[in-house]
Amino acid sequence: MRIFLAMLSHETNTFSNVPTDRAQFEAHDLRYGGEIVETFRGTGTCLGGMIAAADRLGATLVPSVAASASPAGRVTRDIYEHVKQRLLADLTIAGRLDGVLLDLHGAMVPEGVDDGEGDVIAAVRQVVGPDVPIAVTLDFHGNLGQDMIGKADLLHGYKTYPHVDMAERGVEAMERLAQLIGRRIRPTAAWRKPPLLPPLGNQGTTRGPMRRLYDLADEMEKDPKVISISVFAGFPLADIPDAGLGVYVVTDNDQVLAERLAARLARVAWDHRREFIHTALPVKDAVARALAADGRPILLTDMADNMGGGAAGDGTEILRELLRVGARNTTVACLWDGAAVQQCVKAGVGARITLDVGGKVDHRHGAPLSVTGTVRTLSDGRFTYRGPMMNGLAGRLGPTAVLDVDDVKVILITNRRQTLDPEMIRFVGIDPLMEKILVVKSTIHYRAAFEPIAKEIIEVDAPGLSSSNLARFEYRRVRRPIFPLDPDTVYEPE
Ligand SMILES: [Zn+2]
Repeated sequence: MRIFLAMLSHETNTFSNVPTDRAQFEAHDLRYGGEIVETFRGTGTCLGGMIAAADRLGATLVPSVAASASPAGRVTRDIYEHVKQRLLADLTIAGRLDGVLLDLHGAMVPEGVDDGEGDVIAAVRQVVGPDVPIAVTLDFHGNLGQDMIGKADLLHGYKTYPHVDMAERGVEAMERLAQLIGRRIRPTAAWRKPPLLPPLGNQGTTRGPMRRLYDLADEMEKDPKVISISVFAGFPLADIPDAGLGVYVVTDNDQVLAERLAARLARVAWDHRREFIHTALPVKDAVARALAADGRPILLTDMADNMGGGAAGDGTEILRELLRVGARNTTVACLWDGAAVQQCVKAGVGARITLDVGGKVDHRHGAPLSVTGTVRTLSDGRFTYRGPMMNGLAGRLGPTAVLDVDDVKVILITNRRQTLDPEMIRFVGIDPLMEKILVVKSTIHYRAAFEPIAKEIIEVDAPGLSSSNLARFEYRRVRRPIFPLDPDTVYEPE
């Protein structure tokens, strides 16, 4: 069994002014051929799962390209075309193939294309023809579209947020693809897109409306006629027509059943739509509550400045308030400001400097903050994920500095990465368990590794491009009416 393997993954926040260009991919992942298997084997990622399952099934993988970048603005034409053309060229010379495995996201918006994944899958289909099956893994935040469904045979969305099942979905995609190649299953798919644009804040799957939907989906999956079900919460910060929640059900040669289950899930999602509305504490109240709290560490989660949701990562409002009230024994992780890192590098460890940090990307994450502090440590930014997400994968934050401003330690990074693993604090020599307050720039993912160690979690409503308050954004292209942008949206579920 010869299986073509490729990855192209990006979550595009169309409100961001940070273009996702080649440099952003190079700082994250841009790998070719055998290097892909070497890098991802044994890691808690889709590719890791695909590789493990292929090994077990005795399948030969033909790895092509693996490209991913931290969420930001539209993917530039240049890098998108480079990766796509490389993938198609490899596909053309790959020789006889039994199947294609693609690790995609579902919310990638390249310049000039609304549905990046649909475009990639359609191009792959064109090369391999109608008879070679294509199986795809997609992020929980995928904005499901017609071409993804129509041109692929099987889609597998992550079922968790925090995404702790990526490897599992990779395994599933490879196993189902093998069954399809062996003609042991005949997939029939149905999908629904109710007019629903859930904000990120209540999309988590440990509780709330998505838990309810997945409990129901898990029950449905017990039917041997059901191959798999994905409920995509969708990515609300991509202002494209397809943004929003999507239900995808694939059954074994039973279209009627697929339609019935998809309709039921869409109805349940719609009936509970108000549970997706999320509110957090204003900055001043949140900081006051953290100071008064007993025990440690107390987490202040900067949900709206999550680089993993395409926010700038250089938001200053929580830091400003912490300094104003004289908080101590506090760490802010991690603030994206390569220029500030360079100033720290130039000054050297132990130097006392005055500089502007953060607030430089746009006007939606607070103003730059002038601080005077001591350069505590400098590092090359290399760490390894040790939590439930992406376990074992190497991460690169680029040149990294810790600036100590009256015992508020600011971790300044050069490469954009969401703070979702305590290793991103530990590797610079700070013990997260010993800090009174930890500011973590993340919406939900931090919960997988930080919830077990946090004494208390306080969700903060600071400004930023991953805010769950969707009224702050000027939508132009998403289909309307859609809830909650249009609170009176009418939908008649089947
Ligand atoms: Zn996601």
